Amino acid sequence: MFRYEEDRDYPARDGTSRLSAFLAYGEIGVREAYAATERAMAAAADRPETDAADNVEEFQGQLAWREFYTQVLFHNPEVVTENYKEYEEEIEWRDDPEEIAAWKRGETGYPIVDAGMRQLRDEAYMHNRVRMIVASFLTKDLLADWRHGYGHFRERLADHDTANNNGGWQWAASTGTDAQPYFRIFNPMTQGERYDPEAEYIAEHVPELRGVDPDVVHGWHELSPTQRANAAPEYPAPIVDHSERREAALAMFKRARGEDPDE
Ligand SMILES: Cc1cc2nc3c(=O)[nH]c(=O)nc-3n(C[C@H](O)[C@H](O)[C@H](O)COP(=O)(O)OP(=O)(O)OC[C@H]3O[C@@H](n4cnc5c(N)ncnc54)[C@H](O)[C@@H]3O)c2cc1C
Repeated sequence: MFRYEEDRDYPARDGTSRLSAFLAYGEIGVREAYAATERAMAAAADRPETDAADNVEEFQGQLAWREFYTQVLFHNPEVVTENYKEYEEEIEWRDDPEEIAAWKRGETGYPIVDAGMRQLRDEAYMHNRVRMIVASFLTKDLLADWRHGYGHFRERLADHDTANNNGGWQWAASTGTDAQPYFRIFNPMTQGERYDPEAEYIAEHVPELRGVDPDVVHGWHELSPTQRANAAPEYPAPIVDHSERREAALAMFKRARGEDPDE
């Protein structure tokens, strides 16, 4: 608990509570979880020289997100199928079935995305930072409607919770309440480099990349076909070009906003 703020974003670390499935199924109530944080807060007061209290507060903040999305769903049940945020025009999702299938299989050629999707397949769980990365990738790189991702997570996650899943997806797709602004698009390479610098999480879930130098893993999109074949012959090349798709995503959202994408 006292290292939560520092560790929570790094999927190779054991830095989060793994309480989500217990909360989702009511095996532990959120009040009970919150009461435990209050005890931790009292213990933090005995360690004024550290940032222990900030860590507890950060954790309480995540429980608050859960409450927030529960309220959003309660007051707006239509979000299960509809965008929360209204755009002037329909968002023209690309929805390429082959790209969506590659994403589900964890074979996009973007290592951190594939590691996340395979963790989901193997463990029925995915680390929160990686959930954000794969959700951004599906909606902003593959330009696929968030409902494809929401449905896949609903089928696969052991901690599935309609409100949290929906809130997470609509946030990532820039269609939600406190939505990620449409022009902020995660870069899957820099996210991987920042949050899994030694590519440990990637190696754990993507066996084709085990033993490959982390710089090579994080630079996978820049390698030539020969370099890729030498480094990890079984691992796929990127299925899309992130820079091109970023521009396409910006244009797609501008059109939805009724703006001229060329301006
Ligand atoms: C696209 C997407 C889909 C998601 N789908 C689900 C889902 O179906 N079920 C689910 O419980 N969480 C979901 N989350 C939120 C979050 O990823 C998980 O709650 C978290 O990874 C669970 O691990 P943990 O218990 O170790 O979390 P911790 O970091 O230890 O957090 C403690 C608790 O706070 C709550 N919490 C943490 N982060 C969030 C968040 N961003 N939003 C809402 N509540 C949060 C959870 O109940 C969690 O168990 C989703 C996030 C995204 C981006």
